[in-house]
Amino acid sequence: MTRNMICIGCPMGCELTVEVENGQAVSVSGNTCGIGKKYAESEVSAPTRMVTSTVMSDSGKPVPVKTRTAVPKEKIFDVMKCIKNTTVKLPVKIGDIAVADVCGTGVDVVVAKDAG
Ligand code: SF4
Repeated sequence: MTRNMICIGCPMGCELTVEVENGQAVSVSGNTCGIGKKYAESEVSAPTRMVTSTVMSDSGKPVPVKTRTAVPKEKIFDVMKCIKNTTVKLPVKIGDIAVADVCGTGVDVVVAKDAG
């Protein structure tokens, strides 16, 4: 089976063609660098995404947050639900943990901008 995808590794957006066998990438073409190959392999076997959003603060102001690293794509809905139900106490600094180990992914949701 062949899958086509756009690499999201940088603004060049290389068009990748991936040959897939048994849920694994066996060849990748169209990539300009190694990041594209890794992206295609991961996208086929275990897709992940960074999540960015806002949490509410105790003052009622929204605070930007993001996952520290990418989380499994199938967990994004649960992660967003958890973020929606989170409130942080101001003041907060960039990098503060808003939600530890969100949805058991092993990834923290952290504050993306000082607030308070
Ligand atoms: S393959 Fe490399 S150059 Fe092409 S979009 Fe991905 S990161 Fe950028």
